[in-house]
Amino acid sequence: MLENLGNRFQDIFKKIRGHGRLNEANIKDALREVKMSLLEADVNYKVVKDFTNKISEKAIGTEVIRGVNPAQQFIKLVNDELVELLGGTSSKLTKGLRNPTIIMLAGLQGTGKTTFAAKLAKFLKKQNEKLLLVGVDVYRPAAIKQLQVLGQQIGVDVYSEENTKDVVGIATRAIEKAKEINATYMIVDTAGRLHIDETLMEELKELKRAIKPQEILLVVDAMIGQDAVNLAESFNNALSVDGVILTKLDGDTRGGAALSIKAVVGKPIKFIGVGEKLNDIEIFHPDRLVSRILG
Ligand code: GDP
Repeated sequence: MLENLGNRFQDIFKKIRGHGRLNEANIKDALREVKMSLLEADVNYKVVKDFTNKISEKAIGTEVIRGVNPAQQFIKLVNDELVELLGGTSSKLTKGLRNPTIIMLAGLQGTGKTTFAAKLAKFLKKQNEKLLLVGVDVYRPAAIKQLQVLGQQIGVDVYSEENTKDVVGIATRAIEKAKEINATYMIVDTAGRLHIDETLMEELKELKRAIKPQEILLVVDAMIGQDAVNLAESFNNALSVDGVILTKLDGDTRGGAALSIKAVVGKPIKFIGVGEKLNDIEIFHPDRLVSRILG
């Protein structure tokens, strides 16, 4: 996971440990390298600048330079700021006061939205929740079929309707179905498009108004770097999402999306997808990802 970035940081830390004492010059050198590594990992430029400025302010104070183990303190500073950049602490799913709690997934086609719907359903089912998966991608029957197949695999009911394009109607009737089967959570897999377009956004907004989800989660493919962040901003502006799901973090992503998204969009990453299997879902813990990166 984010191996290249990890290796770069290891080299920087090795070099800084090699200096007996730290001074402003070698801290500046190290920070320049941190900056380069983050930019190479496709982290948003403004995010990188803010990040290195913060470390610089803290490190160039006397504390780090005169401290007992300056190199170690510098490394800790980088570690702590990375954790902060990723949101600090993990962020839980909301649970509604009444059943079902409605979770609406949004995102572009191919990001792993449908797979995530099934992963989350399986994850919640293991916690003894009762689930209903809802497919409202009326444009792609194959997407609904995929959800049905996944639902069957995990033993979760899937609600969908044929012969209608009335997304709001389907989702509203799905709520009735969820109540009927005493579902505690209902996960709505919305339509994805290859690009953001006005029709998609309008449909999602209308759906949000009609079903009032407790959580709107934006599914983002970590492989597409900081472009993912621009996409996330557009979705967030239209829908005001509650959290982000980063998929495909198991791939050889450079890390740009992961490290930029919280700072730019201002919404926490709640879960990560780390593989194609339905068990490959993890609650996102900023400190654990940083440990994985820094080794
Ligand atoms: P959707 O169009 O957004 O619903 O995307 P799908 O759920 O159909 O997923 C698109 C592709 O990404 C499929 O081949 C999935 O197996 C794959 N995929 C989804 N999540 C992950 C993940 O976390 N890691 C990896 N490696 N592949 C994933």
